[in-house]
Amino acid sequence: MEFSWTEEQVRLRSGAVEFASRRLVDGVIERDRQGVFPRDLWDACAEFGLQGLLVPAEWNGAGQDLLSAVAVLEGIGYGALDNGLVFSVTAHAASCEGPLSAYGSPEQKDSWLPRLADGSAIGATGITEPDSGSDVFGLATSAEEAGGDWVLEGSKTFVTNGPVADVFLIYARTGGPGFTGITSFLVPRETAGLAVGPSMEKMGLRTSPMSQVFLEGCRVPATAVVGEVGSGAIVFNQTMDLERLLVMAPAIGVMERILERCVVHSRERKAGSVAIGKHQSIAHRIADMELQLESARLLLYRAAWQRMARGSATRESALAKLAVSEAYVAICRAAVQIFGGYGYIVDYQIERELRDALATTLYVGTSEIQKNLIAGLRGLG
Ligand SMILES: Cc1cc2nc3c(=O)[nH]c(=O)nc-3n(C[C@H](O)[C@H](O)[C@H](O)COP(=O)(O)OP(=O)(O)OC[C@H]3O[C@@H](n4cnc5c(N)ncnc54)[C@H](O)[C@@H]3O)c2cc1C
Repeated sequence: MEFSWTEEQVRLRSGAVEFASRRLVDGVIERDRQGVFPRDLWDACAEFGLQGLLVPAEWNGAGQDLLSAVAVLEGIGYGALDNGLVFSVTAHAASCEGPLSAYGSPEQKDSWLPRLADGSAIGATGITEPDSGSDVFGLATSAEEAGGDWVLEGSKTFVTNGPVADVFLIYARTGGPGFTGITSFLVPRETAGLAVGPSMEKMGLRTSPMSQVFLEGCRVPATAVVGEVGSGAIVFNQTMDLERLLVMAPAIGVMERILERCVVHSRERKAGSVAIGKHQSIAHRIADMELQLESARLLLYRAAWQRMARGSATRESALAKLAVSEAYVAICRAAVQIFGGYGYIVDYQIERELRDALATTLYVGTSEIQKNLIAGLRGLG
């Protein structure tokens, strides 16, 4: 068992910290307040190579392995303060580039992957619907065959990057109820019959845009199918395994940064003549944060390693997603308490971290759904 990064991974991680702390820090308070997606910083991330991290070199990506990508994203999370923008990038990479790289036809890859990798196009995915979120395979959006094309009808909600996306991976029902009746389609934004709703205002991750997507008589050619007709649930499940890791990797860096801030504050902040860190309640809170961070980190690394080594890591990625998201919320909640009243004040940039963190126990399957998955693999539930 080997627990250290390679020299190259250390170099990648520190390069990411340097880039993120230089470019993804300024102006976050105002962008968060106004809910603005910073396209210029999206472009800066692309220039750094973030959007193309896992895309094979053949399509202009960096072709990194998953553990190296985790190292980079962890460094980004540590250095950046704009968690919303980072989420937009990881959602684009995991939920659009990921399935395209794995299941796309040569033509789909040639026409979209280079643009997604260099950030000139933005990807989004729509599976959630107003009446099916956790019950993901209960989706009602339909795709009917018509003269060799497919016609999509329905609506999607909570689509990350929706307001700015150039292409959508849409999951629709092409067959009977449940798992086998679903197909994924690649639908460019300008397709007639696809309409993007207004931006949805969120509690956190406010620099990551989100909207509904409406499909009314939305006609796409047979070549828009990603994978096979009826294989949408397989595409989705494999994508989820990757997304649970990629989207959560920056949180490891964020938690480390917050923990370090809390340690400094606990040493410097005095209540009376005593540093608050001298109180066991504060010191133990810090120890608990450290335990939460390090156990979540190990689960995430192991899941990424297992996916690389064995090609699949459903149980491990569910455990990692559950551990990282719950640790992230707990650590942010603890940080507010350690900072006292200052933790509640916008300028101290702790309260925003808590608002951002809360989303992680909801997206890519809620914490309850991860537990269902883990218990289900034991034949329970
Ligand atoms: C920031 C953010 C970004 C998102 N981005 C996208 C995106 O890009 N594309 C997309 O398609 N979707 C996206 N989503 C949607 C997300 O995947 C859903 O919100 C999530 O799957 C939960 O579905 P729901 O909101 O309908 O909640 P519901 O399914 O209504 O769940 C409500 C509550 O009931 C619990 N619950 C439901 N079923 C069960 C069960 N069987 N067992 C135990 N508990 C259960 C849930 O855990 C939750 O606590 C995003 C959501 C957020 C918050």
